[in-house]
Amino acid sequence: MATLEQDVKRAIRTIPDYPKKGIPFKDLTTLWKNGRLTRRVTDALAKRWKGDKLDKIVGIEARGFIVGAPVADRLGIGFVPARKVGKLPAAKVSVNYELEYGRQGLEIHTDAISKGERVLVVDDLLATGGTSKAAATLTERMGGKVVGFAFVTELGRLKGRKKLAGYEVYSIARYD
Ligand code: AMP
Repeated sequence: MATLEQDVKRAIRTIPDYPKKGIPFKDLTTLWKNGRLTRRVTDALAKRWKGDKLDKIVGIEARGFIVGAPVADRLGIGFVPARKVGKLPAAKVSVNYELEYGRQGLEIHTDAISKGERVLVVDDLLATGGTSKAAATLTERMGGKVVGFAFVTELGRLKGRKKLAGYEVYSIARYD
């Protein structure tokens, strides 16, 4: 029987040179249209973090919402959206960071995380780690404790784990 990693890799579609030349874009829509496989991914992520007494999941716009919200539901904890600049309506904190293809800003509401809350940062993919590190920075600025990072997939050659050194990092499917 194929492992979850093998099934996930088989389901993900790689689009060369998107959105820029030289970027092999990992398209997870071909995974998410498969309900049974998506449930296995949610189960695996929830199982990994079940014993960590989490209070919140911070999911990164937009694909981190798709991955993170069902895991929060499974664990019975709250979900906090980390959004691109200008999308959140109430008082917020912001941070800017470098992407594999450009610069970006990220924001969360100031009342989304309380001091001492244990937080898992979730996104679809770990590349350079800039995005998830930014989400961790916002969480920590609110007094939250980042317990770890969860991804469906990871591009090992971009050394995102190095940027997240000192934290627990879990991904289901790794590309080198
Ligand atoms: P990074 O901040 O470099 O770790 O980039 C991770 C974020 O950018 C995630 O939200 C991904 O959805 C997106 N991303 C970066 N590189 C890729 C890629 N090659 N394929 C798909 N998504 C990517």
